Amino acid sequence: MSPRLDLGPTPRLGYTQSLIDRAAEKRPDTTWLAARLADPRTLAYVIGGELIVLKKGDDVHNPTFAPEEARALGPTVEAVFLGLIDGAARFGIGLTQASAEALKARDDLVVIDLRSIAIQGLVEPGHLPPLAEAKAMLHWHARHRFCSNCGAKTDMVEGGWKRACPACKGDHFPRTDPVVIMLAVRGDRGLLGRSGRFAATMWSCLAGFVEPGEAIEDAVRRETLEEAGIRCGRVNYLFSQPWPFPMSLMIGCRAEALNDDIVMDQNELVGARWFSKDECAAMLMRKHPEGLTCPPPVAIAHHIIRAWVESDGALF
Ligand SMILES: [Zn+2]
Repeated sequence: MSPRLDLGPTPRLGYTQSLIDRAAEKRPDTTWLAARLADPRTLAYVIGGELIVLKKGDDVHNPTFAPEEARALGPTVEAVFLGLIDGAARFGIGLTQASAEALKARDDLVVIDLRSIAIQGLVEPGHLPPLAEAKAMLHWHARHRFCSNCGAKTDMVEGGWKRACPACKGDHFPRTDPVVIMLAVRGDRGLLGRSGRFAATMWSCLAGFVEPGEAIEDAVRRETLEEAGIRCGRVNYLFSQPWPFPMSLMIGCRAEALNDDIVMDQNELVGARWFSKDECAAMLMRKHPEGLTCPPPVAIAHHIIRAWVESDGALF
């Protein structure tokens, strides 16, 4: 049994621990929703494509606007009902990406992408879950204005939680795409990979979309075999994370690797190798002698690797 490493207090996983009461029973009540958009307690997040609009602050910026403040920023598209916090409504209000871009010229605003907000801690962490909810929802609406069954223009209903087709009467619901992200473990070593999109020093968990008709465990085994030539036996679910880029759910797992010899898929990865717990601990804490790193605490990969580094052996 390897000695247990302790990396200190576990940081918060980004976009999780939402304080929102989604209040789904209120979504069909158009009168109630309209009244909330006129309620002075209501706050909205303002999003234009990939860009989030923030009110400039000192330590952190403020991502919330009164609905009329949001409308004054430019032509709006959808307003989606996110839920309630302390009984007050929260909405996500969409601008076009072009009108959000134009707001970059204003001195009193910061207009920036959500990844940068999360990694740099530009807003209070409690705002990240509703920002993720709003961004994923508004992205879905922007790409589902027409019926996938008959091609007619659809209408947003139920506070944004459905689009209805007036022609074929079909209903369309916002979706989230499941992605497995996993650490394959063999003895006292874990398998990490590098995508060509990563910073040059960054190593992370392997990941891939769950396919139709596939169980989470089978997706973990397939992706690990496809990307690294490693067969896996037992698979444990650990925890999950909404990942609004554009609208995924990351399903964190650990897998028992059955062979050592890596055969890397060069179309998917530019590196794949085994790492010891000590080396991963140094990478997580940004103390690796060669400057290698793992993803920051905002990302689920950090927590999957950390949970293994801090485990004492009995993994499965
Ligand atoms: Zn239709």
